[in-house]
Amino acid sequence: MQNKKAVVLGSGPSGVFCAIILAKRGYHVSVYDKREDFSKQDHEIVHNRAYVIALSRRAMRAFEYANLPHPSTFGSVQHGNYTVMRTRTVYKRFEDPIICVKRHTLINVLLQEAKKLGVQFYFEKRCTGIDFVSKQIFFDSETVPYDFLIGSDGIHSQTRQHMQEVVPNFSCTVEHNPNRSKQMFIRPGTHKYALNEGYFFTGKDIMCVLSPTRENGFDVCLNWNRAKTHVNDALSNPNEYKSLLAENFGSELADVLVPVEGFFDTPDFFITSVTCSQYHYLNTILIGDAAHAMYPLYSQGCNAALEDCVILDQILNTCKDDLSRALPEFTRVRRPDTNAMVEFCRIPFPERGLKLFIYMGSTILARKLHEILPSVFHASAFEILQGTDVPYRKLARITQVQNGMFIALVSSILFMFVYTLVFVVRKAISL
Ligand SMILES: Cc1cc2nc3c(=O)[nH]c(=O)nc-3n(C[C@H](O)[C@H](O)[C@H](O)COP(=O)(O)OP(=O)(O)OC[C@H]3O[C@@H](n4cnc5c(N)ncnc54)[C@H](O)[C@@H]3O)c2cc1C
Repeated sequence: MQNKKAVVLGSGPSGVFCAIILAKRGYHVSVYDKREDFSKQDHEIVHNRAYVIALSRRAMRAFEYANLPHPSTFGSVQHGNYTVMRTRTVYKRFEDPIICVKRHTLINVLLQEAKKLGVQFYFEKRCTGIDFVSKQIFFDSETVPYDFLIGSDGIHSQTRQHMQEVVPNFSCTVEHNPNRSKQMFIRPGTHKYALNEGYFFTGKDIMCVLSPTRENGFDVCLNWNRAKTHVNDALSNPNEYKSLLAENFGSELADVLVPVEGFFDTPDFFITSVTCSQYHYLNTILIGDAAHAMYPLYSQGCNAALEDCVILDQILNTCKDDLSRALPEFTRVRRPDTNAMVEFCRIPFPERGLKLFIYMGSTILARKLHEILPSVFHASAFEILQGTDVPYRKLARITQVQNGMFIALVSSILFMFVYTLVFVVRKAISL
């Protein structure tokens, strides 16, 4: 790939990972990002603001594939347990641990590896336009030519928006989850939660997920329905937020939760999902959240983004770097899987009541049946996602079939029960 110039727009996990893959293929790679260089910002503030990303088998495979340091060397290892505190139910996942890494730590590690390969980074460069035909990308005061453009610029991707303007029949759906989200954290040494586990707390109005950090604290993601305006108000008020947290989670947790820098001023963010009809146009490709952002319920967005880069590399191998063949092939191979996962993540997690009870019951039943008859029953979707890298399409099919089997099984048991009851009552009456 001598003298071929790849421009990567966005230095999130997918952009930097892709830059590494392309640099290894021999492209001259430059990465542009609108944000400031993390390394020049106050480390403490950036660190506390950044949320934790849970990396499962899919991401591990990507790291191995690209010959990069194993995430356990820079993340915290979670030994496969997630406890739902309301029901005290433990999701015991397969043997694989999950690695939790602060987003900015993950990007910094990838950035250092990319720099070793000669990738050039340009920060505070906001893309303002793209000419796909003449292969030029425009920034505020600069025009950059490219041979290959990678649109890894996240949920609100400019690359995608420019494609929408010029590509015939390009369609894209952007959906906002009714939930909103804010970040908090728990300092090391201030809590009594097990350090290698994750926790779900479901309160009256709000839920939160605790993910362990490498420093032995927890990253906390609060989640609530935006229709609950009193929650929005309380979480923007330094005098009120604590009592809301105590009401929902009890004082033991509320007392140790610390707001991240700018918590009260920064608006809570929408959780968004994206589906597109295609990921390519001429010499441009969309990857990561730009192509297929998904709600973080199953912790798959980053895992899928890294897998994109591996699949792109394999296709470039097969097509001998002929982009006119490789990029349409990427859409053909990748889209059905990522679309399936985006759809899958849209099914809401049942936070309370009967729905939560049924959900947890079927998860445990799936696990037990899988242990007894592994060739007939699969583990729950959650466990399959964390412990394997089966294609997302297949996972969606497995879950559909399995749900059907559960409904049939539970209905049969209920039928047998009612039948026996009627039989016994009749017998008793006739005696
Ligand atoms: C609260 C939360 C928790 C999550 N937890 C998990 C998890 O546990 N596991 C998991 O796998 N995933 C998780 N995700 C999803 C994961 O964070 C994303 O899928 C992942 O960051 C996507 O990476 P990306 O590189 O595609 O995009 P991004 O990380 O969004 O990066 C895009 C980059 O592009 C830059 N950019 C944007 N527009 C422009 C422009 N016009 N010009 C120049 N640069 C631009 C941005 O500054 C940014 O640096 C979570 C997401 C959230 C919000």
